[in-house]
Amino acid sequence: MIIKKAKIRGRDGLFDIKIENGMIVEVAPHIAARGDEAIDVDGRLVMPTFIDMHFHLDSVLTIGEPRFNQSGTLLEGIEIWSEYKKKLTIEDIVNRSRKALMLMVSYGTTRIRTHADVTEKNLTTLKGLLEVKRLFKDLVDIQITAFPQDGILTELENIELLEKAIELGADNVGMIPHLEYTREDGVKSIEIAFEIAKKYDRDIDGHVDETDDEQSRFLEVVAAKTIKEGYMGRVTAGHTTAMHSYNDAYADKLYRILRKAEITIVPNPLINIHLQGRYDRYPKRRGLTRIKELLMNGVNVALGHDCIMDPWYPLGRGDMMQVLFMAVHVAQMMGYNELIRSFDLITVNAAKALRIESMYGVDKGKKADLVVLDAFNEIEALAYLKRPLYVIKNGMIVSERNIEEVKVVDPVSRKPAVLDERVLK
Ligand SMILES: [Zn+2]
Repeated sequence: MIIKKAKIRGRDGLFDIKIENGMIVEVAPHIAARGDEAIDVDGRLVMPTFIDMHFHLDSVLTIGEPRFNQSGTLLEGIEIWSEYKKKLTIEDIVNRSRKALMLMVSYGTTRIRTHADVTEKNLTTLKGLLEVKRLFKDLVDIQITAFPQDGILTELENIELLEKAIELGADNVGMIPHLEYTREDGVKSIEIAFEIAKKYDRDIDGHVDETDDEQSRFLEVVAAKTIKEGYMGRVTAGHTTAMHSYNDAYADKLYRILRKAEITIVPNPLINIHLQGRYDRYPKRRGLTRIKELLMNGVNVALGHDCIMDPWYPLGRGDMMQVLFMAVHVAQMMGYNELIRSFDLITVNAAKALRIESMYGVDKGKKADLVVLDAFNEIEALAYLKRPLYVIKNGMIVSERNIEEVKVVDPVSRKPAVLDERVLK
């Protein structure tokens, strides 16, 4: 297969991309091709497929079961989920995940890190997601994090369940220190997560400081532990919304140790902006971690979608560009260069966190996991949020749609005319 006339981020001019056996074998201004093997994308933007660094497949698409979240709060979401969890089956997880993954692929995501709640004694969520990972491996690369939703130290068996989940095949060790009963337990839970991670040689992927409480400071403990254990580059911290409320002097100290620890911060803008700031009267805090400042201070940041139509988030369509759209607004990253660079948050920064940079990108020798956007530049891509034209995984087209033609009455000629959406030259 050859993709003709592709616009590649950060490069001037248009390129042809030749794909063989699931790999990109050549990128050049012109590559000869037979008609049946070429896709002419006519200057559209081609990127490596998007990566979703934080997702909950086990609860996906359960909205309204057994009831709707009426308050829209995190805590009501946890209550509804604990009711749903009781009747969870592997088949149910597989069916819902199948639908959700197809949606996500249609929007250009082919790599996902999902959490599996491992505080249920029978570990059904984990077993279900291991099955999902196996069944859908040709469509999506899935990593599973063993996630102690209710805390590691809140119940005696939870440590054992966390370790058992890793033995059963979970990829990463999770934690949720801010939800433990005390600060001391929170610190201890981080130590336990590291112990298990080291024992089984796994990465760490925590929910950290997902609260508006400015006293919640577990991220510094995670960073210090990472440095002491020599775990640099192997730890991600999700949410870290408390950072929004820290004072600047403390935040500044934090940037330095995060950089040293090579921790990746994973904000989930759709969910953070929906669930945080709920205890505030006006003015209300945004409750999103400091994406712009973290990046400016050399800390790696990659985004997660977190939820789609579940007890915590009633909307979402599996579109990482929609996640990015929210991020650039709330973090006020709308300068021209910031918008152009913002796509790093759903592509290369995530690849760095997953340590797959050597195979990720639009270049010779990289994996042919590519998305052809229905846009000619980053600005129009984010402005219009259209579904991609093609999504390619391992060199195979796994999602495609026709270019749509929209006709609108032209106010000058008073006749229907094809809508021209191009703005930037
Ligand atoms: Zn989460």
